[in-house]
Amino acid sequence: MNEKRVGRGCVVLRQGDITESDVDAIVNAANNHLRMGAGVAGAIKRKGGQAIEAEAVSKGPIRVGDAVITDAGELPARHVIHAAGMGTDLKTSPEIVEACTRASLEVAEENSLGSIAFPAIGTGVGGLDVKLVASRMLEACMAHLQTSASKLTRIEFVLFSDADLAAFQEALEAL
Ligand code: ADP
Repeated sequence: MNEKRVGRGCVVLRQGDITESDVDAIVNAANNHLRMGAGVAGAIKRKGGQAIEAEAVSKGPIRVGDAVITDAGELPARHVIHAAGMGTDLKTSPEIVEACTRASLEVAEENSLGSIAFPAIGTGVGGLDVKLVASRMLEACMAHLQTSASKLTRIEFVLFSDADLAAFQEALEAL
């Protein structure tokens, strides 16, 4: 299953590179100091430009589990929402991933965004099991779309590998 409708919106799963997503905001799997190194953050900085990191760092540090929004530089997306899935100790947990997923959705609503794309937060440097992350993130998004005040109509998950896409498909079917 690659798509599920919820309320007035939908959750969509696809394999790909999140930096190519043409949505109102892509979510960066960030640390709480908002410096952009490897993984998703590195790809965003490379393709979108250093100005994204400079703006993000100027808004930090933030609490682990929180999120902030910046411009998206040269990327097709309009904004980047930096979700702090870990601190400088590089440790994360399913609870932190859920918290920063919710925080990202709230930031999107505060900015009246209609579409957002998430990577599998915490499954790279964070080393979390993708199945666990998939159910936590999908549950948070489905619950959010059920709230009547939501202006988001499209929540994408862009998974780098076929295996990660399969794990998200399984979790979506189980919900
Ligand atoms: P974290 O530090 O939260 O674990 P990472 O950026 O290291 O975050 O990785 C999170 C997930 O995003 C990993 O599964 C990784 O394979 C994937 N990923 C890395 N680059 C991209 C990209 N350009 N588009 C989509 N997913 C990506």
